[in-house]
Amino acid sequence: MSEFVKKVVIIGTGGTIAGNAASEKELVNYSAGEKKAAELLRGIPVPENIEIETIELCQIDSKDMTFAILKKMAMILNDLMGRDDVVGVVITHGTDTLEETGVFLNCTVVPTKPIVLTASMRPSTALSADGPLNLSDSIMVATSDHVGLFALINNTIYLAEEVIKSHTLKVDGFYAGEYGAIGHVYNSKVEFFRNVKHDQKMNVILDKLPDEDKSYPWVEIIYSDVSANGQLISLLVDNGVDGFIINGTGNGTVHHNILNALKAIDKTVPTVITTRVPTGRIMNDQYGLMISPYSHAAKARMWLILWLLNSR
Ligand code: ASP
Repeated sequence: MSEFVKKVVIIGTGGTIAGNAASEKELVNYSAGEKKAAELLRGIPVPENIEIETIELCQIDSKDMTFAILKKMAMILNDLMGRDDVVGVVITHGTDTLEETGVFLNCTVVPTKPIVLTASMRPSTALSADGPLNLSDSIMVATSDHVGLFALINNTIYLAEEVIKSHTLKVDGFYAGEYGAIGHVYNSKVEFFRNVKHDQKMNVILDKLPDEDKSYPWVEIIYSDVSANGQLISLLVDNGVDGFIINGTGNGTVHHNILNALKAIDKTVPTVITTRVPTGRIMNDQYGLMISPYSHAAKARMWLILWLLNSR
């Protein structure tokens, strides 16, 4: 290897980007995570002086993502951050839980080079599959000099911790609420719209994280909706729940039945308030509940689980 050749590491985890369907026209019924990362790279142009290394972490549908896999991913990334021959990393992932992986990585990895999560909305076998261009664009971001944890889909770059899936089917299936996209890639040219500084929300010591999912805290999301009855709160407490996310209305308001149920358990279980509203932060601590950096329930759940482990 010439001393000028640098590496981009592709970590494969499965998802629709690695999915196979029975025909080119089939966009809906397919099996995710069928292809290895090495197969996804066939035909993908690689910039001069860049070599690709692949790590096959797993081949799953990301709806089945586990903490055990996420912990391994963070450990691999931490190793790669220390390798001089590696300029950047791309992780191929399913779209369904990308938003939680973004939070997990924000709290466990300090990026010193670009790390890009990418995915696709159409399986690899589809006419106009979006995976190959997303992968190629992600490799370009990985070879750029932008340090951080990013997500790339449909030519668009987001901060990984901010990205949210916003469409069930279309290739333009992600957004980042009012934070917005931070850049784009067209014709392999990477453009950032503004300078983004990595904002580490927590510094979790990976050794503190269990290896098995069953040893992670049990955190449930409770939805506050019309005529919510709140009985789940005490049922879950009786069964040993470790934390609650209350997915409230508006600016973090909560149905009185849920508030009464929380009062009855007298703050014995850490409880974070989030909102059903897709954009905007919660500026309301009227109930004395915890507010996480994330007002999105699934992101806040990931944050609370890590917070509980980190404070042990
Ligand atoms: N179920 C798939 C997954 O998350 C969906 C996708 O990747 O688009 O793995």
